[in-house]
Amino acid sequence: MFLEGKRALVTGSTSGIGLAIARALAGEGAEVVLNGFGDEGEIAKLCEELGASHSGADLTDAAQIETMMEEAGAIDILVNNAGVQHVSPVEDFPVDKWNLIIALNLTAAFHTTRLAVSAMKKKGWGRIINTASAHSKVASPFKSAYNASKHGIAGFTKTIALELAEHGVTANCISPGYVWTPLIEGQIPDTMKARGLTREEVINDVLLVKQATKKFVQPEEVGALAAFLCRDEAQNVNGANWSVDGGWTAE
Ligand code: NAD
Repeated sequence: MFLEGKRALVTGSTSGIGLAIARALAGEGAEVVLNGFGDEGEIAKLCEELGASHSGADLTDAAQIETMMEEAGAIDILVNNAGVQHVSPVEDFPVDKWNLIIALNLTAAFHTTRLAVSAMKKKGWGRIINTASAHSKVASPFKSAYNASKHGIAGFTKTIALELAEHGVTANCISPGYVWTPLIEGQIPDTMKARGLTREEVINDVLLVKQATKKFVQPEEVGALAAFLCRDEAQNVNGANWSVDGGWTAE
């Protein structure tokens, strides 16, 4: 259990990829702080299962992020994972959705990072892992805000990787292709509307068409990579944007 004695905050970890990352880190002995929304009873069960605590902070609100970071104390491993999607042609893209996506997928990571790095530098050890996306490298139509936020987080990650490199702190992105989670399920109806397709066509001709494997990525695969990035053997993996997309962005 190589993460014993380390404290990890995983944003958006009450569901999907974040939960799988939290499970992987807790499985290696890290003390985990969960974050995200959901049913109180379910979250309490997760906390018990993982020996974790939970912050219900809404990460679109800088003040709530500050309170969460204060309560969490010194963080060794910061995983910026919380994110949302909205699918719409750009001329109809709701302005409030644009603002929400940029605030959560990009600006929240700036706030958590700026509040976490002093303690990491003092210890001379830290890991910052940002869940980006294949959409941090390539685009798909009708996802203007998401693609902008994910290209943004990739640039942000490279910048902090350079700034922190001499302090024992690494910063990397993990960029999954399509992982079957509520985020994907939720975008199917809007994609059907935007492209005039059936549910089956969206799954096979829009989502899986990109992935050379023709299979969804499993959240646990992303969790395992996050845990690897926390190993001392990964100390020179810095500023990378690591694809887990079945070959999508190889094309
Ligand atoms: P999900 O919907 O299963 O989980 C999202 C998490 O974020 C939940 O815990 C939710 O409660 C939390 N959250 C939502 N709004 C929040 C807010 N305002 N404040 C705090 N927490 C909030 O989604 P997922 O598919 O697991 O996505 C996780 C990350 O992975 C996102 O950044 C997403 O863009 C990225 N990603 C997902 C896929 C995919 O195919 N599922 C692919 C590439 C990248």
